[in-house]
Amino acid sequence: MGKATASLEHLFRVFTKPEGKDSKLAQIEEHLSDNLSDFLSQHVVTKAKSLEEIEQNFQDYKVPESPEFVTKHAEVLLEKVVSHSVNTYAPTFIGHMTSALPYFHLPLAKLLVGLNQNLVKIETSKAFTPLERQVIGMLHELVYSQSEDFYKSHLHSAKQSLGAFCSGGTVANITALWVARNKALAPNGKFRGVAQQGLAAGLKHYGYESMGILSSKRGHYSLSKAVDVLGLGREQMLTIDCLTQRLSPEKALAAGREFEQRGNKLLALVGIAGTTETGHVDPLDELADVAKELNCHFHVDAAWGGATLFSQRYKDKLKGIQKADSVTLDAHKQMYVPMGAGMVVFKNPEDSNAVRHHAQYILRAGSKDLGATTLEGSRNGMAMMVYASFNIFGRQGYELLIDQSIEKAHAFAQLIEEHEDFELITAPTLSLLTYRVKPSFVDAHCSKQSELLDKLNVAVQKQQREAGKSFVSRTRLAVEKYGLNPLTVFRVVLANPLTTEQDLINILQEQLQIAKLTKSWKELEDQALAQLKRSVG
Ligand SMILES: *Cc1c(COP(=O)(O)O)cnc(C)c1O
Repeated sequence: MGKATASLEHLFRVFTKPEGKDSKLAQIEEHLSDNLSDFLSQHVVTKAKSLEEIEQNFQDYKVPESPEFVTKHAEVLLEKVVSHSVNTYAPTFIGHMTSALPYFHLPLAKLLVGLNQNLVKIETSKAFTPLERQVIGMLHELVYSQSEDFYKSHLHSAKQSLGAFCSGGTVANITALWVARNKALAPNGKFRGVAQQGLAAGLKHYGYESMGILSSKRGHYSLSKAVDVLGLGREQMLTIDCLTQRLSPEKALAAGREFEQRGNKLLALVGIAGTTETGHVDPLDELADVAKELNCHFHVDAAWGGATLFSQRYKDKLKGIQKADSVTLDAHKQMYVPMGAGMVVFKNPEDSNAVRHHAQYILRAGSKDLGATTLEGSRNGMAMMVYASFNIFGRQGYELLIDQSIEKAHAFAQLIEEHEDFELITAPTLSLLTYRVKPSFVDAHCSKQSELLDKLNVAVQKQQREAGKSFVSRTRLAVEKYGLNPLTVFRVVLANPLTTEQDLINILQEQLQIAKLTKSWKELEDQALAQLKRSVG
């Protein structure tokens, strides 16, 4: 093969001609569609290379001057990128919310990219606009179960929208709080609203010192990005300690009142349905009453846990979610849709109008263009992937997936509890739990030992990750049993339906093996021995 040269002829070929059957790219494609997990296990190296080493492959800071053949470049991608990416399909990768995807998404992704629709306006999306509205409507129904008439009149209405499709939970949360802010500082008399006149004018008009948002300490960091972007400032993100991992309605009410007594306005109370760190669900039903009492917007962040609503058996864990003014859900977490699919739904279809924006050349007043009420502009047709998933799995299919994840988490929790060298730290509400290595001879309440335990757990998590066979994540948590001092714990999300109980047993075994070889284990042993001698002597 010669060298590629920049010519219109070459470019024309790149735009229009598929690669030949025996080219590298065609081989990749075939392998991918034939057996994705085989492809990944062959091409993603398990032995970790340090980020610094990998950076060596990405040192060029100039756009290459001359072109490269597609097939040659495919080899470069395999070697530099694919091989050092993360195999999220591995059943022993149980540290994050990202997991294996069902097969059909691969050819659909090709279709999606091929069509290259832009959902910002109907002129560039046509059928995709009603499709996205329908998907939002389905999630709205899942949360709010309104009447048939309600959906008939609102699903495709040019005047309202039932929610917004976003790139993820972060933008969904920002959108919800953006709506809440614009409603709280709505046009009033001569005041033309915060959207027109800005925050300073809004606060002045309404006589507020400042505005804030309230959630538990377990709130996702996207909430603090939201108060920043919305001009309220991160200090106005009020968080409440929660050793039980759930926001106490009494504490929320007291904190809200105290905040308002200082001349501020509480913009929104945020309940979390499935916290990122422990998977707990706040008492949504009671928090809805608190929000009512405080006369503020009630938002539920169900980015991860929202899919539980598909399960008849477990949906009651989210009891009260239908009282929320807005709810965030991520389809790219427990709905097994590729990355880039978040949504916010509004109880009141009028709410989206608080952020409606028109422009002359598109998004004309009275049009059904989705871009008029979304934060993002150009967006792809990810809604099609959600639509396809909803149809291919059906509610019953999702129910099976959700139920088996939760049941697997309970089985894992039991394995941990029965093991003398492990300690369950937070039991699973949904399919997320935390635990740590705690050798049977350790007194975890002793502060010296508790420091060593943290060290031991950090070392085990790191070495296990580096060995490349399995992955759990870790975080620091304050829990009831040990008071306000946070502990280092392993965090496990049982998202991958392909993970078996045997995989979980193996993970514990590997962790124990690693732990026993660490310095911290030895030190803990020595300390325990010394203590024993003292108490005997
Ligand atoms: C994942 C998550 C988010 C953020 O969503 P992204 O899709 O990562 O932007 C927000 N809140 C909760 C509770 C989450 O689990």
